[in-house]
Amino acid sequence: QVRVRFAPSPTGYLHLGGLRTALYNYLFAKKHNGVFILRIEDTDRTRTIPRAADKLQEDLSWAGIEVDEGPLQGGCSGPYIQSERLQLYKDHIKLLLNTGSAYPCFCTERRLNLLRKEALKMQEIPKYDNKCRDLLKEEVEVRIKKGEPHCIRFKISNKEESFDDLIYGNISYNVSLNEGDPVIIKSDGYPTYHYANVIDDHLMKITHVLRGVEWQISTTKHLMLYRAFGWNPPSFGHLPLLMNADGSKLSKRQGDIRISSYRENGIFPLALINYIANSGGGFEKDQERYIKPKCYTLEQLASQFDLSKINSHSGKLMSEMLPEFNRLELKRQFEEKHLRSKLVLNVKELLKNTYPERVENGSLQYSDEYITRILEWSLHRIDKLSDLFSKNLEFIWALPTSYSLDENVYISLKLLKDELSSIKDFNREELNTTLKHISKKHNIKYGKFMKDLRLVLSGLNEGPSVAEIISILGKDDTFRRIDLCLN
Ligand code: GLU
Repeated sequence: QVRVRFAPSPTGYLHLGGLRTALYNYLFAKKHNGVFILRIEDTDRTRTIPRAADKLQEDLSWAGIEVDEGPLQGGCSGPYIQSERLQLYKDHIKLLLNTGSAYPCFCTERRLNLLRKEALKMQEIPKYDNKCRDLLKEEVEVRIKKGEPHCIRFKISNKEESFDDLIYGNISYNVSLNEGDPVIIKSDGYPTYHYANVIDDHLMKITHVLRGVEWQISTTKHLMLYRAFGWNPPSFGHLPLLMNADGSKLSKRQGDIRISSYRENGIFPLALINYIANSGGGFEKDQERYIKPKCYTLEQLASQFDLSKINSHSGKLMSEMLPEFNRLELKRQFEEKHLRSKLVLNVKELLKNTYPERVENGSLQYSDEYITRILEWSLHRIDKLSDLFSKNLEFIWALPTSYSLDENVYISLKLLKDELSSIKDFNREELNTTLKHISKKHNIKYGKFMKDLRLVLSGLNEGPSVAEIISILGKDDTFRRIDLCLN
C-alpha cells in the first residue's frame, strides 16, 4: 500500500511551496488508494514557533487536504510529532553506535568555529574534519563517564552515492566533498532533521518520499543512513522549485504567498489548488488544461495525477490565472445546489462584516432569493465574493444617498413608475423595451434619461445598464428608490 507523508517543520506559516508538496503527496495517495500522513518535524527547538503546527493543520484542512494519519487523526504509527518521539530516536542510536556507523563527538563550538574560519581563510569549503571518528574506545568511555558534553555524528562514506529520482532521473552526489560527518543527535539529546526523518519514514512505512528539490542533495545522506540500519529505503521524488512567472523567487517573506492570506482575501481553496496544480505539470491532459482552464475538484485532480508528468524544470505560477480560477470556482459552486446555499450564507457573513451597524439595527436585510439573484448576475463581473462590496456595487446593498438632479427628472420618474407597474416579468429585455418606449412616447432624450435613472437607482454615474439595475433590484426596491427621490 502506498504511504506518503507531508513533513513540515513548524517554523512559520504554510505557504504556496508547502501547500504544493502537501497537495502532490495527497493526490498521489488518493490516486493509488494509499495513505496520506502528516508528520510535524519540530526537532529544531530554536526555530519552532508556538501554534505554527496548529495553524498548518487549519490551513491544510481549509484547502480540503484531508489527513489520514496525523497528530489530530492518530494512526498506527504515531505519535506524529517528532518531539514526542525522542525515546525512539535514542533507542535507535545504540544500533548505529554498536556497529560503528556513528560516534560521539566532543568537539567544542569554539573548535568548530576555528575550523570554519580557517577554511574560509584558505578559500576552502568549511566542513568538519571528522576528528572524533578515530578516538579510542577507552577514551570515549572515560569522557562520557565524566559527563563531557558531546553530540553523535554519522560516518558518511567518501564515495559517490546515486539514486533514481522519480522526477529527475539518476542523481549522483558525493556528500563527503562538501560536508564532514553530520551531527545526528545534538548535545541536548535532540535528533537532527536527517536522522529523525529517516527513522520516521522507516517506522511509518513510507513508500514514496515526495518533497521539495531543496532536499535532493540530502537524499544521498539519507540513503547511507538506511544502509547503516539495514533498512530498505523508500522511493524518492523531488518537486521542482515554484517560481513567479518572470522566473523570480517566491519569497517566504512575501506576505502574499501565505495560505492564510489567500483565504483572507476571498480566494476559494479549490481555486488556489488549481492555480498550484497548473504550475508545473503532473497531470494527464495537460495541454487541454492550458488552453481552456477549468477548476477541477480534488477527486478529478487525483484521478489525472501522474508523477511521471511533473516537469523537472521550475514550476511557474501564472498570477493572472488565480482570479480566473476563482471566477471558475465561483461559477461551479453557484451551479451546485448545496454549494449555492453556502455561497448565500457567505455573502450574509460578508454583509455582517462590511456593514456591522446596519445589519445589527436591522436596516439591512436581504432575502436568500435576493442574494441568489445578485450572485447570478455578478458571476461574470467579480473574481471573489468580497468584490460584491466594492464601491461601484454598493447600490446593491444600500440606497443611494446624495445626488443632484434637475426638475425634468421628476416627470420622467413618475412616467416610469406608471409604466413599470404594469410589467409582470422584470426581465432585462422587457425592461429595455419599456424604457425605450417611454423615452419615445414622451419625447425624452434617451441618453439623459438613462443617466438620470442610473443616478436615482444606484447613485452611480457609470455602471451597469438601467434595465440591469432594475432587474436585479426587483420591483419593490426599484419603487422604493424612485419614491425616495420623489418625496
Ligand atoms: N521538515 C522538512 C521540511 O520542513 C521535511 C523535508 C522532507 O520532506 O523530508 O521541509
